[in-house]
Amino acid sequence: MNRIRLLSEQVANQIAAGEVVERPASVVKELVENSLDAQATRLAVEIHAGGRSLIRVTDDGLGMSRDDALLSLERHATSKILRAEDLSAISTMGFRGEALPSIASVSRFTLLTRERDSAAPEGTEILVNGGRIIAVKGCGSAPGTCVEVRQLFFNLPARRKFMRADETESAHIQHYLTLAALAFPGVALEFVKDARMVWQLPAVPKEDRLGALRERWGALGGGEESLLEVDFKGDLPAAREETERAAGAAGVTPSHPFRVWGLLGAPGVSRSSRAEQYVFVNRRPVENRGINYALLEGYHTALMKDRYPVCCLFLEVHPAGVDVNIHPAKREVKFHREKAVRQLLSQAIRETLLTYHAPAKRAAARAVAKPAPSLPPATDQPEFPKLAPPPSGVAGPAPDQSDQPDQSDGTDGTDGMNGTYLPIRRPQSPISNAPPAEPPAAGFVLPSSILHPPSSPAPAPPAAPAAPVPLLQVPLRLVGVVGLLYVVLESDRGLVLLDQHAAHERVLFEQMLRRLEESSAAPSQRLLLPETVELPVRDARFLREQLPTLSRLGVGLSEFGERTFLLDALPPFVKTGDPRRFVLTLVDELKAAGQAVNTLRLGEQTVAKTVCRHAVKAHDPLARPELENLIEDLRHCAMPYTCPHGRPTLIEMNFRELEKKFGRAQ
Ligand code: ADP
Ligand code: MG
Repeated sequence: MNRIRLLSEQVANQIAAGEVVERPASVVKELVENSLDAQATRLAVEIHAGGRSLIRVTDDGLGMSRDDALLSLERHATSKILRAEDLSAISTMGFRGEALPSIASVSRFTLLTRERDSAAPEGTEILVNGGRIIAVKGCGSAPGTCVEVRQLFFNLPARRKFMRADETESAHIQHYLTLAALAFPGVALEFVKDARMVWQLPAVPKEDRLGALRERWGALGGGEESLLEVDFKGDLPAAREETERAAGAAGVTPSHPFRVWGLLGAPGVSRSSRAEQYVFVNRRPVENRGINYALLEGYHTALMKDRYPVCCLFLEVHPAGVDVNIHPAKREVKFHREKAVRQLLSQAIRETLLTYHAPAKRAAARAVAKPAPSLPPATDQPEFPKLAPPPSGVAGPAPDQSDQPDQSDGTDGTDGMNGTYLPIRRPQSPISNAPPAEPPAAGFVLPSSILHPPSSPAPAPPAAPAAPVPLLQVPLRLVGVVGLLYVVLESDRGLVLLDQHAAHERVLFEQMLRRLEESSAAPSQRLLLPETVELPVRDARFLREQLPTLSRLGVGLSEFGERTFLLDALPPFVKTGDPRRFVLTLVDELKAAGQAVNTLRLGEQTVAKTVCRHAVKAHDPLARPELENLIEDLRHCAMPYTCPHGRPTLIEMNFRELEKKFGRAQ
């Protein structure tokens, strides 16, 4: 007896639906993707009861003829690819031709469509019930397509049970729509939930895509904190087969352009989950562990442990370099050059974070983009009548100040209150190696040559209005210190708090890295009485591995027996009354750091970070000139906004936030 039979079309579709249609949000995703593929400029999404009783997606896209509409409900019917080769050059969201028949097989489904560019007088309406077409008729309709999905899984009780509470399903739908809204700011998007309008997002003109993204982000209620603009280009080696094919020809490795652009939280901005981490590959929202890793790697010391970036990044990869056909809902992608993508992405992040503080480079980077119109100088805050316009300007970083009038008498800063603004001296190099400058004379009037850095050859255009001006590029005025730790400052934007310990750690960390790089001997202070420290065997072996790095950092430790070490010098900033304790704690901390990176021999950066922990000044009372020097040194750092462990060094509360807190504004 023959036991093998071909499944009916209907059953086959329901099986496919099991993969494609996981939950109501998957239906929304497939329908919205179809609308986007059909070049819609307006999209309306309406749901009821978390999408279980109704999902309706209406677009003004290309629409379909009657024949196409009927065909679109057949399995493997698609207008998007023809041959298997096309799979490696996909520029549309869909390509499998599975979504419509799958969805229609597990719901009461209506397709209403009319071709946009045809003279046909009417549209087509098709009713499907659990996969069975029950009516096809002509009908009046606007150009475009409207798909209605009612009673999802009505014929699959088992699947119905798996649906969660309405609110959960709605949240999934809204999450997907957020992704779509971010990826397509040029498309107007309306979202109605249980007859209540949730969003009515206008189309944002596309010329300046970063600007458009920023606007969309704001319209979606994205945070107001500092978001940096990323625009990075690189070369991605072509996939292996392609390389092999070309190898015979010219002997050069073919490559494809790679691009990352979008928005990225400034150093110090982070979240406790990945909820605000949006990553797209060729405009498709994706999940990819390599990308997650690259993000953390790119942030490096600018992100605290167990914290995640806020970002909305678009990776543009040649379609041949990425496989989008590895997940039924196309949520995951696979790069042919995973490692190279990771490296390029983390480089893009790192460079963006670094240029945040190096305005010359930043301005140059922006100059590549459309030059933005220059802004008028910031409106004066009435509270600060004498505040000179900051050298770098609230209007954006403008590295060339040589042609500006001498501001020294404006910035000498006695503003009738009890302090002065700290002037901004432009760093010549990332960090000064020299011992801290002499505290400036009383009154804090600096020669104008310091206020005005030597002119750079090419004046760069000012940044676009939306780009945040880094906090350390606006003048800050010292107000006082709270709790022997938090330095209170004010800027023309509001209140600024500085964690003196975190700041000091950052300054020392970068100084140490520079010394390691230059392999110049770190200053160290000899102990009057060298100390011996005895360690358990395993710890001794571990410490032995770190000795070379430690010695280059100024920690004079040498072997003095199998598990005994002699400590005879310490870096000058380590102020400890108990050098033995210092060594024991250091070993513990290094071991803890080592567990995170899982190698015996720790990287120099890790060792430096750990040594920096012992920077004092947590609760040391610092005199005013010392604080001023600290801030100045911080300004010279490459990554001044976080300590080496990613904690923020500065917190800003602008006047708007203050007004909100005091109930003066909503
Ligand atoms: P795929 O998107 O993978 O091609 P679908 O089953 O989602 O498969 O859709 C089948 C076909 O129906 C599409 O290729 C497209 O030609 C057509 N189609 C679906 N939705 C729309 C729409 N909103 N507007 C115009 N055409 C559509
Ligand atoms: Mg589709």
